[in-house]
Amino acid sequence: MVTSTQTDILIIGGGLSGLALAYKLHKSSRSFHLVEARNRLGGRVHAHLFKDKHKETYYDLGPAWFWPGQLRIDNLIDELRLEKFNQYSTGALSYEDNTGYVQRGKGISSMEGSYRLKGSLNALINALAANIPREKISLGLRARKICKDDVIASHLIHRTGQTTKINSNKVVLALPPRIAADSIDFKPKLSLSHLKAMNDIPTWMAGHAKVMAIYEHAFWRDQGLSGDAISRRGPMVEIHDASPPSGGPYALFGFIGVPANHRKGHETALLDAAKAQLIRVFGNAANTPLDLILQDWALEDETATALDHEGLSHHPNYGRPSILKNLWDSRLILGSTETAPTFGGYLEGALEAAECVFDELMSDEK
Ligand SMILES: Cc1cc2nc3c(=O)[nH]c(=O)nc-3n(C[C@H](O)[C@H](O)[C@H](O)COP(=O)(O)OP(=O)(O)OC[C@H]3O[C@@H](n4cnc5c(N)ncnc54)[C@H](O)[C@@H]3O)c2cc1C
Repeated sequence: MVTSTQTDILIIGGGLSGLALAYKLHKSSRSFHLVEARNRLGGRVHAHLFKDKHKETYYDLGPAWFWPGQLRIDNLIDELRLEKFNQYSTGALSYEDNTGYVQRGKGISSMEGSYRLKGSLNALINALAANIPREKISLGLRARKICKDDVIASHLIHRTGQTTKINSNKVVLALPPRIAADSIDFKPKLSLSHLKAMNDIPTWMAGHAKVMAIYEHAFWRDQGLSGDAISRRGPMVEIHDASPPSGGPYALFGFIGVPANHRKGHETALLDAAKAQLIRVFGNAANTPLDLILQDWALEDETATALDHEGLSHHPNYGRPSILKNLWDSRLILGSTETAPTFGGYLEGALEAAECVFDELMSDEK
């Protein structure tokens, strides 16, 4: 069965950029609808919920930090009455060489001065969503085909297999350009140069995987360690304290250094190796995590394409290239963090992209 609805602006993607744009459009009483392929909002912002008898605590499995000078996220957090706190960085850094030998006190905590969000970055997603009417957001709805005519008809498939058509004047692609090029059928077809330009924009951190280890006690802090570690042995190349601002359960997380193509199908072995590494670096107390989670972003079709499985050696120069401006007479607009001119790739970039798209939509009305 095909159901059909109408809106002025269709936002495809319910990550931070799509939600921030929806929040702005709602505040200025514009007609819009947001669709999200996953069964949850947030996109790359995602946290693990750990529940015990006493409380529920969230641990960031995607982004964790933002930084001084990122004013959009700072202001939005204030506006939504959320609370930031400083990354825990008291104590010595640990360094593991390629033989597994561990030295202490080498260097400084690399993330000292970074901010985290109380309640995890999910709190930001939830607060934005709470300020947007529920009926303007559809979950589990994946854009498959977008056809341009007098109105733009977007064909979406629900998880249940049902097809929905949404007619709109404009469509904002608030998803990584590579995902749009890879998974959406555009009619008329986008030219090969357009598709190449979209595929040439790497999705920030899409090839990465994180392990989160949750513990009852912060035993590393008791030993005078910050929880920061650098390893030449792995599988985690960089480890940090990921605990809530006060009280437990406490946590350590690490970025996996094994390339994406070698991780698939080896999830259990990776978790075992990560635990063994935590024991080498922080001692036997690391042997009994309350929970141990692997989040592999490279395996998620809504975030990564095969092109993202190659790791990036540097932070790309992001921003919307001129060939990707004015698509379909400016009615098809790219708007994920990768299109932000200054903070592209970051959470701040997702907000910057939303701001740029909002300004573009408003200036077209004049
Ligand atoms: C492991 C990791 C660590 C990171 N660390 C940091 C950090 O510490 N600080 C920082 O600033 N940034 C960090 N980032 C980057 C940060 O997560 C991104 O900048 C930000 O979340 C991007 O938001 P976005 O809305 O632009 O894109 P996304 O979050 O990718 O949102 C796109 C949305 O579109 C949806 N979608 C995809 N295809 C379709 C479709 N066909 N139809 C409908 N919906 C679709 C997706 O499900 C997703 O919800 C990290 C990212 C990762 C993965």
